[in-house]
Amino acid sequence: MSDSRNPVIGLLGGGQLGRMLCEAANPLAIDVAILDEENAPAKQAHNTSRHVAGSFKDPERIRELAAQSDVLSVEIEHVETGVLEDIAKNGVEVKQVDGSTKTYRPPVHPSWKTIRLIQDKYLQKEHFRACGKKIPIADQVAVESGPAALASLKEAAAKFGFPFMLKARKGSYDGRGNFKVSSEDDFDAAVKALGGLSLYAEKWAPFVKELAVMVIRTEDDGGKLKSCVAYPAVETIHEDSVCTKVFMPPRNVPETVCEAARKLATEVISTLWGRGVFAVEMFLLEDGSLMVNEVAPRPHNSGHYTIEAVPQMSQFKAQIHAVLDLPVPKQLTPRVTSSIMLNILGGATPSAHLQLAELARGAFDDDMDVYLHLYNKASKPGRKIGHITLTGATSTIHQLEAKAKPFIDLVNQIRL
Ligand code: ATP
Ligand code: MG
Ligand code: MG
Repeated sequence: MSDSRNPVIGLLGGGQLGRMLCEAANPLAIDVAILDEENAPAKQAHNTSRHVAGSFKDPERIRELAAQSDVLSVEIEHVETGVLEDIAKNGVEVKQVDGSTKTYRPPVHPSWKTIRLIQDKYLQKEHFRACGKKIPIADQVAVESGPAALASLKEAAAKFGFPFMLKARKGSYDGRGNFKVSSEDDFDAAVKALGGLSLYAEKWAPFVKELAVMVIRTEDDGGKLKSCVAYPAVETIHEDSVCTKVFMPPRNVPETVCEAARKLATEVISTLWGRGVFAVEMFLLEDGSLMVNEVAPRPHNSGHYTIEAVPQMSQFKAQIHAVLDLPVPKQLTPRVTSSIMLNILGGATPSAHLQLAELARGAFDDDMDVYLHLYNKASKPGRKIGHITLTGATSTIHQLEAKAKPFIDLVNQIRL
């Protein structure tokens, strides 16, 4: 329970998203207690005696965190929601100085209900199908686990044709739980790769681009929706299922489609529960229509650009404001005309990314600002260890892309 005048956010997870949350919290004099291993990236960025060492899946440690937080939030959705539900409903016992105990009940934002729903990608989309808001999603069917999986895959193929996507319902990130099934010949490999998990199959979405929109959701203490405010739509590029680049505004996408994406994103997030910042990943199809891929109940890689492009309320400041029920703007207007975010992924050697850091440190240009973010994580091939945001004060996204070519080339080269 907070005993200082600074509000305390208890955060499950201390990776780069928690680190950037701490960076946003520091000048606001907001305390962030991180539950993760000793010296996790987020803990390095914020000095407090409240950090808890341990796993964000461990109920006891989560209770310890809750006992000293004004609100609990997450930087990752793969957490233990049973204990979050119990804390939200029944609270935790906190020892007083006189030896007695008192029940303390910090709120959980976003709601444990939202986190639990989003954890299961199949149920998440069933919810969007049933919510009555006409949210377009890919057709999907649950797939049996174990020996019955093969028969289930045959049914999915008969329903969707090839290719289709076999996905783990839970626990996946960076496409690690996905398997593209192109023909019957892939069935064995698909079952071998994912067979032990709870699965579903999804109809292939023949998209021309992937878009994403971040949304700030606020509600009152009674759970009544106050506002859903959308950031600009961005174009996300995935390579080997990992997001590598983000373009704001999306290249060659009409403004009407970007507006439709923002509207759809707010509709999607309005059907969930609790306060916070959310990402809505979408597919843009050939006919200009949109389809929702999945939602993240937290800051997201596609929103990193907001640190410099929407500094009055970056996605991290937005998480802080939303979960603490502080005011949020009615509109989120970028301060620049264009922005590109490039992920720095660990290269073939532990120091491959340093070339990129060097290029970023020396880049000064009248119309392109360059911002380097390294997370102080050990470099492993393909691991997200930092990002670079480039912003154009007056350039179009195409002009900024041309200027950013040396960075884009080097990012691509390190990845190979
Ligand atoms: P994240 O790291 O975003 O949480 P994830 O592991 O949950 O990723 P998805 O978002 O389901 O995985 O899929 C990863 C990528 O695979 C998508 O961004 C898209 O490029 C591709 N993809 C997913 N579903 C489909 C589909 N039904 N049809 C075509 N491509 C798809
Ligand atoms: Mg996901
Ligand atoms: Mg995804």
